[in-house]
Amino acid sequence: MTHVVTESCIRCKYTDCVDVCPVDCFREGPNMLVIDPDECIDCAVCIPECPVNAIYAEEDTPPDQIAFIKLNVELSHAAGWKSITKRKPALADADEWKDVPGKLKELVR
Ligand code: SF4
Ligand code: SF4
Repeated sequence: MTHVVTESCIRCKYTDCVDVCPVDCFREGPNMLVIDPDECIDCAVCIPECPVNAIYAEEDTPPDQIAFIKLNVELSHAAGWKSITKRKPALADADEWKDVPGKLKELVR
């Protein structure tokens, strides 16, 4: 089991989640974060920190977000996204994108 970052994070990247992760398992891409499933210890402390409710325990991932389970694996491994352990400013237009549905096409790898 692991925890999964889903679509709401795309183009937002508020990074509140990284400050609380005890094992530093968030990985950063150009406009989204993911969780490395090999490192996550399922403590769940990151879930309430996310202002856009992007993080789910794998078994609670909503049906329309299932593709993100594989994407978190792929982007934290093959894509070579790097570890992020300190909070930083959100993307400049994050507030404009936070409630926009169907953002997968906006993902930059
Ligand atoms: S707090 Fe939420 S929106 Fe911000 S980087 Fe973490 S998962 Fe993405
Ligand atoms: S569930 Fe815990 S270990 Fe996994 S990403 Fe969230 S804070 Fe980190």
